Amino acid sequence: MEDIFRFVDELGPVKVLHISLPQAGLKAVVAVDNTACGQAIGGVRMAPNVSADEACRLARAMTLKNAAAGLPHGGGKAVIFGDPRMPACDKERVVRAFAVAIAGLTEYVPGPDMGTDELAMGWVHDEIGRAVGLPRELGGIPLDEIGATGFGLAAAVEVACSAIDLDLKGARVAVQGFGAVGKHAARFLAQKGCVLVACSDSKGTVSSPDGLDVGALVSFKNAGESVTDCPCGEKAGAEAIIDVPCDIWIPAARPDVLNKGNAGRLKARIVAQGANIPCTPEAEAILESRGILVLPDFVVNAGGVICAATEYHGGNESSAFAAIDEKIRTNTLAVIQDSRRSGISTRAAAIALAMTRVRNAKRVRRWR
Ligand code: NAD
Repeated sequence: MEDIFRFVDELGPVKVLHISLPQAGLKAVVAVDNTACGQAIGGVRMAPNVSADEACRLARAMTLKNAAAGLPHGGGKAVIFGDPRMPACDKERVVRAFAVAIAGLTEYVPGPDMGTDELAMGWVHDEIGRAVGLPRELGGIPLDEIGATGFGLAAAVEVACSAIDLDLKGARVAVQGFGAVGKHAARFLAQKGCVLVACSDSKGTVSSPDGLDVGALVSFKNAGESVTDCPCGEKAGAEAIIDVPCDIWIPAARPDVLNKGNAGRLKARIVAQGANIPCTPEAEAILESRGILVLPDFVVNAGGVICAATEYHGGNESSAFAAIDEKIRTNTLAVIQDSRRSGISTRAAAIALAMTRVRNAKRVRRWR
């Protein structure tokens, strides 16, 4: 028999809920990893091939991300087995059934993730009065529309530049993946005086050493086109972005884009991880051995969850931006300083920072 406690360590998961309601077409797993810092916040992922393992791993990632961000929240994650493109009425039935099934799991606050959106969170909220990432009409702050994660990344880059004496004004930026995270990061960095020398999406790369027009590229993406459709710069395949000389390289697309086979090609001084796990551990080791400053994903891409937590506590768009700015600046600086002081990688420093916060919170909690 499979050992259902195989994931458990000193932190959690404290609860794993398996839900099967065949009459509603619902099969789901919720992992509440740890609640020492507060109610667990984490997304609801809908996909045909999700698993309990994935829910537990992602829930742990949320514990670390929320603790690293200094939020009064633990980590959790839910997965619903199903095709997210199922007919809307079926999706509504499945998501509402999911909401009712987790009504009593009050230590978990669901949010949007791959395959779910603000409408789905609206259904959850309608059933149980508990969800983040809500439609604007219900008090939601549309984090992708306002660019919460890109804004936080830009703040982290500013801190990192001053730590390595790199002038932000005129610093050359390359963004891999020009979606919700990447295009807003480019926009906020351009406002700070950086020059976007390259960007890419799944169709290819566009680059120009003299700088690209960020506004024009964003307009093309917002119109559903590719950055390669924009009549500017030189065009090349999607992989070409790795070879563009720059100061700041921002992965904002898929996991594992930098690996041991290509990390040696990167010509940058800072890698600011917008995407989740964009570098394999081998790639991060190569980058650090080459003196490239790596800003770890769960520290610098926490703008979205900080925004969601602000929404949950009744804040508005401007308080969300203020919280993102303050928290990401403080935590990025702490990670860089700790890594230098202890001679460890920035990722090791970030994990230590998050773990210390969770352990300190556990000390004042009876069961958590
Ligand atoms: P998105 O779907 O809006 O954008 C992704 C972009 O990447 C698209 O433009 C797509 O064309 C491009 N892309 C896909 N494959 C590519 C490739 N091989 N090369 C270059 N570009 C490619 O997604 P998003 O919300 O911007 O999320 C991007 C990443 O950031 C994901 O890893 C996500 O988990 C992570 N993340 C997102 C948020 C958020 O607030 N949206 C927060 C934290 C982390």
